[in-house]
Amino acid sequence: MYTRASASDYNDWEKVHDNPGWGFEELLPLSKKAETYQIAADRPTHGYSGPLKVSYGGASTNIGKEFPITASRYDETRTLVDDANTMTEVNGYVRWPKWIDERSGKRSDVPHHFIYNQQASNKNLQLLAGCSVRRIVFENNRAVGVEYLHNTRVRPGADNVPHIARSKRLVVVSAGACGSPAILERSGIGGKDILEKHGIQSLVDLPGVGENY
Ligand SMILES: Cc1cc2nc3c(=O)[nH]c(=O)nc-3n(C[C@H](O)[C@H](O)[C@H](O)COP(=O)(O)OP(=O)(O)OC[C@H]3O[C@@H](n4cnc5c(N)ncnc54)[C@H](O)[C@@H]3O)c2cc1C
Repeated sequence: MYTRASASDYNDWEKVHDNPGWGFEELLPLSKKAETYQIAADRPTHGYSGPLKVSYGGASTNIGKEFPITASRYDETRTLVDDANTMTEVNGYVRWPKWIDERSGKRSDVPHHFIYNQQASNKNLQLLAGCSVRRIVFENNRAVGVEYLHNTRVRPGADNVPHIARSKRLVVVSAGACGSPAILERSGIGGKDILEKHGIQSLVDLPGVGENY
C-alpha cells in the first residue's frame, strides 16, 4: 500500500521532538524524489521521476469501487476525496494506491530500485543476506563495525561463529522498530538495569532504548 505520513507528523519530528531539518518542508523534496506518481499528473506534493512507481495496481472489483462512494454517503465525518496521500489531506474515502508499476504490473519496492540494482556497478556495496547482527563493535567508545552470525535456517550448513564487518566511517543501525533497540541493548546502549540483568556491560545508560515505544 502507498500510505504517506501527514505533514504534521514530520513537523512533530522537527518541533515536538527537537530534530531540526526533519520537518515537512525539508522532507517533501526527498519523498517526491523517491516516487513516480502514475495516477495523476502535476500534483504539487507528488513526484514524477523517482524509481518507485505508484499506481492503483491492476484491476479493481465493483465492490471496491462502490465501497468508498457508499461509505462516504453514510459517514458524516469523512467525505470522498480524490487523493488521501497529499500529506495534508487525510481521513477521507478513496481508492487506495499501491507501490506497483502500472506498466509492468510489478511491485515497486526499495530493495529492487535502490539496492539490488547497484550490486553490479557499486564496488562499495556488499550484501550479506541471511545474517543477523548480534552487536555493534566499539573501540574507544567509537562504533567501528558489527558482529554478526549466519542464520543457518537461511544458510544451511553455514558456520555458527561470530564474524566482524568493520567500517571505516560509520555504522548505520536500521534494523527496524524492534530490531534496532535490541541491537543497541546487546551492544551496551540501553537501560543499565536491563543490561546488567542479562550480563551485558553498560556503555551508555539510556533507559529510553527499547522502552515506551
Ligand atoms: C503491515 C504494515 C504495513 C505498513 N504500511 C506502511 C505504509 O503503507 N506506508 C508507510 O509509510 N509505512 C508503512 N508501514 C511502516 C513501514 O513499513 C516501516 O515504518 C518501515 O518499513 C521501517 O523501515 P526500516 O528500514 O526502519 O525497518 P524495516 O523495514 O523493519 O527493516 C528492518 C530490517 O532489519 C532486519 N533486521 C532486524 N534485526 C536484525 C538483525 N539483528 N540483524 C540483521 N538484520 C536485522 C529485518 O529483518 C528487516 O529486514 C507498514 C508497516 C507494517 C508492519
